[in-house]
Amino acid sequence: MFGRRVNGLTIVSIGFLVFMIYQVLLDRSTNNSDPLVQNAPAAGLVSNVQAAELDSPGQIEDQAAPIGDPDAVAAPYDEYVLTQGPHGFSYGHMAIDLTAGKGATIKSPINGVVTQKFTDEYGNPTLVIENEHYQVTLLHGKYTVVVDDIVSLGDPIGSESNKGYTLDFRGNLCTNRDCGYHTHLNIFDKQYFANVNPMKLISP
Ligand SMILES: [Zn+2]
Repeated sequence: MFGRRVNGLTIVSIGFLVFMIYQVLLDRSTNNSDPLVQNAPAAGLVSNVQAAELDSPGQIEDQAAPIGDPDAVAAPYDEYVLTQGPHGFSYGHMAIDLTAGKGATIKSPINGVVTQKFTDEYGNPTLVIENEHYQVTLLHGKYTVVVDDIVSLGDPIGSESNKGYTLDFRGNLCTNRDCGYHTHLNIFDKQYFANVNPMKLISP
């Protein structure tokens, strides 16, 4: 009797356990299917955009009002000389070098917000301006704007300098020397998630 009762209980327990396991598996399979299907291909893009909007709703609103066309791009100078074509790939760039002369006013190449201002590991003063379409990085200048400043295309943002890794025509560093003045300009296209050749955007 005792053995049969235990067996009976055991059978009931096993039955219950199997039922529970079935429920859990069913749950898991239905739970899994949603995130896998919904998040898989567009996860990075969609969630990044949403995160950006959620992180700084005020900034996005500010951008929407005074900031102009996010597709517009212009050279950072009225007149300039191209001193180097696309380069800096090992740095993660496809940048060009432009010069308008020592102390020339540098202008914002896009309508956007200053999102970063720092000196990189090579001593390059670095300014990042971005909007929903482009992230523009400029190096070497004396930048007068600060993070969170809203800038319109053509607004003065600093003056040309030779700070950081700049070279003379012989390839010698211009640190503490009167040479190598230029702006290193990189443009990242957020829609294609890739750097673009700035020449294609700024040449008329
Ligand atoms: Zn450069």
